[in-house]
Amino acid sequence: MVVTPKVRGFICTTAHPTGCRAAVKSQIEYTKSQPKTEGPKKVLVLGASMGYGLASRIAATYSCGAATIGVIFDKPGDGKRTGTAGWYNTAAFEEFAHTDGYYAKTINGDAYSKEVKEQTIALIKQDLGKVDMVVYSLAAPRRTAPDGTVYTSVLKTTGKSYTNKTIDLKTKKISEITIEPATEQEIEQTVKVMGGEDWKDWILALKAADAITDGAVTVAYSYIGPELTHPMYYDGSIGRAKAHLLKTAQEITEQISGVQAYISVNKALVTQSSAAIPIVPLYISILYKVMKEAGVHEGCIEQMYRLFHQKLFDGSVQADSENRIRMDDLEMREDIQQKVSSLWEKIHDENLEECADIDGYWHDFYELFGFDLPDVDYDADVDIHVPIQSIQ
Ligand code: NAD
Repeated sequence: MVVTPKVRGFICTTAHPTGCRAAVKSQIEYTKSQPKTEGPKKVLVLGASMGYGLASRIAATYSCGAATIGVIFDKPGDGKRTGTAGWYNTAAFEEFAHTDGYYAKTINGDAYSKEVKEQTIALIKQDLGKVDMVVYSLAAPRRTAPDGTVYTSVLKTTGKSYTNKTIDLKTKKISEITIEPATEQEIEQTVKVMGGEDWKDWILALKAADAITDGAVTVAYSYIGPELTHPMYYDGSIGRAKAHLLKTAQEITEQISGVQAYISVNKALVTQSSAAIPIVPLYISILYKVMKEAGVHEGCIEQMYRLFHQKLFDGSVQADSENRIRMDDLEMREDIQQKVSSLWEKIHDENLEECADIDGYWHDFYELFGFDLPDVDYDADVDIHVPIQSIQ
């Protein structure tokens, strides 16, 4: 069938298999074009189908030559309904990796569950023996904990409400939005979903099963950003979860012998997750404009390649005083942030294109779902039933 984008709010309910394949291919080609990395050889990636997790899997495979197991939570095409972008990305990634001679297998299920942990560990034991790196890149709106309790995360401020500009990307209208503070219970739930509890559960389960090497590295992803987004992010409910993630990194390193845990603070980018956060998409559109003009813009793959090649596996790990790896170094550069904040002050409906890279935002958004890629014939019939080779 011919697949077209169907955008509802901040998600697209369709995905294009050929487009997703082209996007994965371009990330692989970028990594192949860069110098290799002396890094891990057996890598488990949790949340491997989109955004930073997918890029981490590609960097591990094509820069370090690693075997990878990816855990994803996606849907294949069903009748006339397309599969999720993460499904098509993973199908394409495995196809390329296998052709290029790399081990790559995938488990499709809820990474928060005990069953998926057991299934993944059994696969590691059977095929790889042990992993020497675990990437934790889950971004989810809810989590069912091992005792069956369902926790839901919220994207709200804490303490008091916050009013600032936001953009409706569809109508290209800027308006003011007030974000109400989360209740204590909502904050606790957000920490349960996006904090470090499940990350630590994974490392403990791997350790108990003797499925992780001595000297293994694990990394989870976080965000800090400038002050204008702090009430919404760093000091918001999600920020509380990220503070818990940082605390968990210290706990893992201290309590689980042989494992070093790090937080990588990544750059703000258009992904399925960031599109859902109020105020942030307008900030990202302005940031894209400024970083592109300064020639320092990066996407997920440039960030993750640099994380592996320069910050994690180039001799010693380059972390700040709180043991965080700062992949947001370019985003947070003083000259970049000064320009962003002056554009933020003066932006309004009439000077939007001058102050922000709205087209760049939309391009990246569509590309997440396999649309708007060069050299893909979007008028052609496409088979939406694409298998992931390792999933029968
Ligand atoms: P994303 O939405 O692109 O990817 C999240 C991945 O998690 C997807 O592959 C999704 O399928 C998977 N997933 C969700 N629930 C799952 C489950 N129950 N079981 C298995 N897989 C599941 O998000 P992203 O932006 O790449 O975020 C990844 C991490 O990076 C998050 O911790 C996020 O906070 C962090 N981060 C994102 C940004 C940004 O601007 N996008 C910046 C810094 C840090």
